[in-house]
Amino acid sequence: MLNADHIRKDFPILSRQVNGKPLVYFDNAATSQTPQQVIDVIVDYYSNYNANIHRGVHTLSQEATDKYEAARNTIQKHFNAKHNYEIILTAGTTESINLVAQGFTSLLKEGDEIIVSALEHHSNIVPWQMLCERTGAVLKVIPMNLEGELIMEAYNALLSDRTKLVFVNHISNALGTINPIEYIIEKAHAVGAAVLIDGAQSCPHIKPDVQALDVDFYVASAHKMCGPTGVGLLYGKEEWLNKLPPYQGGGEMIDQVSFEKTTYAGLPHKFEAGTPNICGGIAFGAAVDYMNAIGFEAIATYENELLAYGTQRLLEIEGLKIYGTSANKTSVISFNLEGIHPYDVGTLLDKMGIAVRTGHHCTQPIMDFFKIPGTVRASFSFYNTKAEIDALVEGVKKAKMMLS
Ligand SMILES: *Cc1c(COP(=O)(O)O)cnc(C)c1O
Repeated sequence: MLNADHIRKDFPILSRQVNGKPLVYFDNAATSQTPQQVIDVIVDYYSNYNANIHRGVHTLSQEATDKYEAARNTIQKHFNAKHNYEIILTAGTTESINLVAQGFTSLLKEGDEIIVSALEHHSNIVPWQMLCERTGAVLKVIPMNLEGELIMEAYNALLSDRTKLVFVNHISNALGTINPIEYIIEKAHAVGAAVLIDGAQSCPHIKPDVQALDVDFYVASAHKMCGPTGVGLLYGKEEWLNKLPPYQGGGEMIDQVSFEKTTYAGLPHKFEAGTPNICGGIAFGAAVDYMNAIGFEAIATYENELLAYGTQRLLEIEGLKIYGTSANKTSVISFNLEGIHPYDVGTLLDKMGIAVRTGHHCTQPIMDFFKIPGTVRASFSFYNTKAEIDALVEGVKKAKMMLS
């Protein structure tokens, strides 16, 4: 059983005050907080072995290279990739998606189709629109229902031998819906399409097994799972990574260079041009270790408890409506108070030390679907408590009184 009071001691930021009140951090879907164990790794890197990797024969460079590659292996094990060179370390989810979208330029032709879901983050819509503009491919969208769930009958109807790529997030950042990715992957493969899953929102809650999923690409960001910003991963099946051309030209990604012809390095270096975020990659590995030491089953059980409690308590407030009501969701509660703008609620909550997200959460199409300008989003992590949810409920009640 997970002891949040004990775990909170690992996170120095959680003991600070905001506007004279103890911080209640409920913006975990935007970025998670960082435990001392990961902060220590970052300090250790810059204090003791900061050096460029894969190049120097000197001791610091070798130490940095060893730690960076060890982190890659940790991440490989966590996601259960078959080979460590199928793990490409990138700047994060957005860059990983752009890498794949760019790579597909030479693999698509006019009339081919790409399927995305109605639940996507903007970073997941725009790269595919740009890919369609470059290639003449057509973007198709899996619609959702009023619970915020993707409609699988509609998905099946979109699939055909024209479908070349299917892209969905594992979990919606705006609503928390867990999408049936096993089914989505199986059906896409049946028509010969590749599948890219955005795990940015699922990785803090679920340990994915890319081999069991048989997924072609899987992407995530370290900063949503207790790691630093500016680093993330692209997992790709070896055969797919070999098919894609390099994303950027530069140092580290080449084998031989002359002005007549350059040959590229093998995986993963082909996709890792220039000096990477070395410290970030090592800290990403430490974050994965930290979360595994707590245990993903314990995390899921505890967060589900918070979700059930938070949902029940918030619904006590008259005029409060929750968006995203799938039975299959993670600890994200998106809501509005009748007749009150979400921004105003968020501003008042901040005065009480409570950090929530307000706005469209980079998912304008979802907001358009519900015909709302945005929502207040409270997203819980394993270091949050029921006492903090009580503070949120009191805060929302107060905000409602002041604003109505
Ligand atoms: C946060 C998020 C992204 C973008 O991640 P970055 O780290 O900003 O690149 C993409 N998709 C989903 C579902 C997200 O939650």
